[in-house]
Amino acid sequence: IKKIGVLTSGGDAPGMNAAVRAVVRTAIAKGIEVYGIYDGYLGLHEGRIKKLERHNVSDMINRGGTFLGSARFPEFKEESVRHTAIANMRKLDIEALVVVGGDGSYMGAKKMTEMGFPCIGLPGTIDNDIAGTDYTIGFHTALNTVLDAIDRLRDTSSSHNRISIVEIMGRHCGDLTMMAAIGGGAEFTIIPEKGYNEDELVASIVSDVEKGKKHAIIAITEHITNVADLAMVIEKRTHLETRATILGHTQRGGSPCAFDRIMASEMGAFAVELLIQGEAGRCVGIQSNKLTHHDIIDAIENMARPFNQSIYDLTKILS
Ligand code: ATP
Repeated sequence: IKKIGVLTSGGDAPGMNAAVRAVVRTAIAKGIEVYGIYDGYLGLHEGRIKKLERHNVSDMINRGGTFLGSARFPEFKEESVRHTAIANMRKLDIEALVVVGGDGSYMGAKKMTEMGFPCIGLPGTIDNDIAGTDYTIGFHTALNTVLDAIDRLRDTSSSHNRISIVEIMGRHCGDLTMMAAIGGGAEFTIIPEKGYNEDELVASIVSDVEKGKKHAIIAITEHITNVADLAMVIEKRTHLETRATILGHTQRGGSPCAFDRIMASEMGAFAVELLIQGEAGRCVGIQSNKLTHHDIIDAIENMARPFNQSIYDLTKILS
């Protein structure tokens, strides 16, 4: 293999730059040329492709976001659009593509692989919602960001006898919320995997308040309910000031933590090794502290991410 491409896609995640840097430098060390594709699948379709040298990824290891840019490009679901994208790479004799992104980006990579263009997926998303890996690139950095926010909210809510609701990202995956709840000592943890009953939640907060509790932190994943409305309901029933904080995109930014930098570097290098070994249509993961790879089609279609029940149980025991 002589030429490969690399792109970042979907929501940006801290550590994506470290992954791209590792792909670029490992490939160059093995005599392979690397082409950076700017703005995800949109840029691939529009031919925004530039050869990358070692120095193009200098000063990148500690930077959040993605210097290659990312985009949401739903048109990539259309086969004709993917044909153009593949043709753009073939024009430059690019033989394979490394895609750093979330499950949507994996779908694009899977479909290009099915069309005969080999892709390797690296899990880049703060949501930790990708099958075939224990952790995704960006998750631990986002977790630290959320913990920092919870610590600050704890200081002020305990000083003011206030209940704090913290809305945390993750879409359909409660990992970020659960881990943050444990690390931040939240009293209540609400995640998409377990459903949500507002009456039960409020009754249990009221019962805690009646027992003398003066402040509480409620960790809740985004898209479950309107947290501002929930705050009003809780305040009315408990007579304790209740405020909702939506952490939003602050969770996506920032310099990647040590774990994400190192894991992204290992995964990026591993992706290149796999291509050299002739592997294609794989997605890279880390499982039980070992680098692994799985069929990207199988991972998307058949490998459900196991729910971490013991972590969920711990949020209840320790609250
Ligand atoms: P995150 O989980 O952080 O949001 P993601 O990779 O899941 O990241 P998406 O917006 O779902 O983010 O997907 C990124 C891009 O992948 C889309 O904008 C689109 O270009 C492409 N994509 C998503 N789904 C498909 C699909 N079914 N077929 C082909 N391409 C897809």
